[in-house]
Amino acid sequence: MPDTLPELSPSELRRFGRHLVMPEFGQAAQRRLKAGSVLLVGCGGLGSPTALYLAAAGVGRIGLVDPDRVEETNLQRQIAHGHSTLGRPKTESAAARMRDLNPDVTIERHDVYLTEENALALIGGYDVVIDGTDNFPTRYLVNDACVRLGKPNVFGGVLRFDGQLSVFDARQGPCYRCLFPAPPPVELAPNCAEAGVLGVLPGVIGTLQATEAIKLLTGIGTPMIGRMLIYDGLTLGFDSITLAKDPNCPCCSLPREEIVLRTERMVCAAAPPGGTITAAELEALLAAGAAPLLCDVRNPAEWAGGVIPGARLRPKPDLDSLLQAGGSLPGPFAGRDPVVVYCQAGLRSAAVIRALVAAGHDPALLIDLEGGFAAWRGPRAEPDAALAAPLSASG
Ligand SMILES: [Zn+2]
Repeated sequence: MPDTLPELSPSELRRFGRHLVMPEFGQAAQRRLKAGSVLLVGCGGLGSPTALYLAAAGVGRIGLVDPDRVEETNLQRQIAHGHSTLGRPKTESAAARMRDLNPDVTIERHDVYLTEENALALIGGYDVVIDGTDNFPTRYLVNDACVRLGKPNVFGGVLRFDGQLSVFDARQGPCYRCLFPAPPPVELAPNCAEAGVLGVLPGVIGTLQATEAIKLLTGIGTPMIGRMLIYDGLTLGFDSITLAKDPNCPCCSLPREEIVLRTERMVCAAAPPGGTITAAELEALLAAGAAPLLCDVRNPAEWAGGVIPGARLRPKPDLDSLLQAGGSLPGPFAGRDPVVVYCQAGLRSAAVIRALVAAGHDPALLIDLEGGFAAWRGPRAEPDAALAAPLSASG
């Protein structure tokens, strides 16, 4: 077979000297990296170290998918960005840092949500996909598109102090749906904004994702196909478990051409006792000039990152304290008007509504915004979530 890999330039021979000196790596692996391409879905906590290390390592072409802009709350962990790029698109911010590390890398920016309409075209253009997503709907889209296209999917998930990593390649092993056929109920899937994440954690897992991508592109080592790494940051424990392919998997047991991409909806297992409203219904109400009472029960940092117009901030911990003390409720709950309650993803708002009803509040006056602010801002736009058993966040 003729060698069609690109040659290394004199500057690349200097730059990658520490790679080339390793006999297991050498020029052959470096040239495969140069010929290779990786799509990073998410330029957040996981995407930051991944983007930087893959650019530094000499991957020839790197695509970045992220519709978000850099916010101050990102900088605790999203180290591809900085104060100088606050408010700029994350793909622009990350690309600038990557080019500074390695001006030879080709960077393709995709400032969009990954959707069922664009996933196949986007993912189809790259050799390896890195899942650095922050929400389950996108995670399932990445999985299903990779299975359909026969692409390896380097998965990472982080939440609080815990991390997970695997390589899903349905041609040789299980896919994400073999483990988790459908998204967990919202209550079991807190994201990083709700549950928190140690800032360095996505650095650990993202760096390992970059390692796996390099192994896949170069063919060195043994990728984590059919295994999952479980990382406990508090004990500094690394465990790995074997993953089996599910012969009845709703995705990878199908013939590839029969896999249809669809956006999963996150639902509550225990619906709150009051009514619910969707983001689209709320938007239509507001557009029609209605002014329903809106209560945001997130924390002030989340509030600072964007709100639904007209909402009042009543953080859940404050409401919990008031209810526990048996004190009278503040507006907007003091009157007899219906209140739309929302949090980031629907977990805390449902809990607040349950607590209010338990305290004697009329359930008919409490309306939960399905999917919370994330659904309002865009169905796939959560600022900070990812996996687990099921961990949810990637931050
Ligand atoms: Zn599967």
